[in-house]
Amino acid sequence: MVRKFDFMVIGSGIAGMSFALKVADKGKVAILCKTKLEEANTNLAQGGIASVTKDTDKFDKHIADTLIAGDGICDESVVRMVVENAPREIDQLVQWGVDFDKDASGNFDLHKEGGHSEFRILHHKDSTGAEIQHSLVKRINQHPNIEVFENHFAIDLITQHHLGQLVKHTTPGIECYGVYVLNPKTRHVHTFLSKVTMMATGGIGNIYQTTTNPSIATGDGISMVYRAKGLVKDMEFVQFHPTSLYNPSERPSFLITEAMRGYGAVLRNLKGDEFMYKYDKRGSLAPRDIVARSIDTEMKLSGSDYVYLDVTHKTAAETKEHFPMIYDKCLSIGVDITKNYIPVVPAAHYLCGGIVVDKKARTSLKHLYAAGECSCTGLHGANRLASNSLIEAIVYADEAAQDALKNVDNIPLNEEVPMWNDEGTSLNEEMVLITQSEKEVGQIMSNYVGIVRSNLRLKRAFDRLEILYKETEDLFDRSVVTKDICELRNIINTAYLVIKMAMERKESRGLHYTIDYPDKIEQ
Ligand SMILES: Cc1cc2nc3c(=O)[nH]c(=O)nc-3n(C[C@H](O)[C@H](O)[C@H](O)COP(=O)(O)OP(=O)(O)OC[C@H]3O[C@@H](n4cnc5c(N)ncnc54)[C@H](O)[C@@H]3O)c2cc1C
Repeated sequence: MVRKFDFMVIGSGIAGMSFALKVADKGKVAILCKTKLEEANTNLAQGGIASVTKDTDKFDKHIADTLIAGDGICDESVVRMVVENAPREIDQLVQWGVDFDKDASGNFDLHKEGGHSEFRILHHKDSTGAEIQHSLVKRINQHPNIEVFENHFAIDLITQHHLGQLVKHTTPGIECYGVYVLNPKTRHVHTFLSKVTMMATGGIGNIYQTTTNPSIATGDGISMVYRAKGLVKDMEFVQFHPTSLYNPSERPSFLITEAMRGYGAVLRNLKGDEFMYKYDKRGSLAPRDIVARSIDTEMKLSGSDYVYLDVTHKTAAETKEHFPMIYDKCLSIGVDITKNYIPVVPAAHYLCGGIVVDKKARTSLKHLYAAGECSCTGLHGANRLASNSLIEAIVYADEAAQDALKNVDNIPLNEEVPMWNDEGTSLNEEMVLITQSEKEVGQIMSNYVGIVRSNLRLKRAFDRLEILYKETEDLFDRSVVTKDICELRNIINTAYLVIKMAMERKESRGLHYTIDYPDKIEQ
């Protein structure tokens, strides 16, 4: 079956949905998501969204904080653009119904997080992402021009390559005509043609064994663009959230927001000693890469699988009021956070790199935009400042929407593209082993490509991944196409890009730390 749209949006997080809402008055929009509209990283964001909204804060301060976190390789003009456009996009979210908490005088109740010099994090209790997700989903469902395709899996972008034309890697002029989409229920692959396509597939956390990301975060968009010969960069900069709840049987790992350290919580080792001042003069409020590496070191020193976060010195009522979700969650596993220390461990959380885009969110493939966590704008550089990702996603979705609205009338639909060839065999035994292969990738990445890296570890990861890569590509060519095999392929492609780019960086910078090159190369 062939479907035709003006705008095709792959992903229903803040990036995809805000783009869709901004272009929908102009033409027919399709939103694809591989599970439910609600299941996205956006839905899980706790801490909030960063923006200068009060007189005593200044754009220059937010810019300076972002540049410091980025460790010398942010694109300063991008940082300025995002910071200065942030208040406008906050107004847009409020207009769409997002209810940010206010104080008694009716001003936004602002939190402060690690690395921020000011209180500037807008939030909705400790479930800001869910508030944003639900407000946008409501709007999406009301718009007559938007058609939602839940449980539809984007397999690959359609380019000249599918017309039998040879395209070299990074050749200028590769065009995107739409996407091949699997409906796992019917097992049919459909051709979705579009004038404009927006890639908004979110993060990659599931290439690691322990992650805060939901199961949808398998790097699909990045892999699709890489396979279509588009540009991808900075994949070595994977942020590990320092404090996910230590509860080994649970996936994704439950996140204990950094706002809790901003509120006064301190990190302690298993002996109960506060240890962060040994590593950084900002103590428990140091940026998350330093905190994650310090926790990693403390765990290695003591041989333990976790450390503690202590908030017991704060007033119990206030703690429950500010962090109701965290309070309930910890209580459900027997930890009363007003009385007990919380066991925490670092977990793969956020990717700073991804699909290369310019300031209008245009990728290196014509008519393809990217926004949100799958994109690499230059805002984060080598490390993300807390709560800068939701704001980046919505600012770039807006830039993409404005550009697409100007150009869409001049883009023809390419109706010559062939249908997906879905011949193949059901290979039952090999299909069963897919879950095993996914687990193996997670182990390889967590063991050798985690918080502390080395040449030996990266080489080992590369060699082991290569075996899985060959097996999986062979399986993909022979078998009927399924969501599981497509996801495994994407996980392996994404893991490969992280390892390859980590090997190429011969220094330690931001989130990339290797014992073989512990210093930074001067820029
Ligand atoms: C636990 C947690 C807490 C966080 N807290 C904060 C915070 O406080 N502040 C902050 O700024 N950031 C936070 N982040 C990061 C932030 O939430 C994400 O970076 C952001 O939400 C990403 O939005 P997105 O629109 O790019 O993608 P997502 O919200 O992840 O949406 C991705 C969408 O793509 C779809 N998709 C993926 N692959 C395919 C495919 N092959 N076919 C079809 N659909 C596909 C998915 O179904 C989903 O709809 C947090 C992240 C996590 C995990």
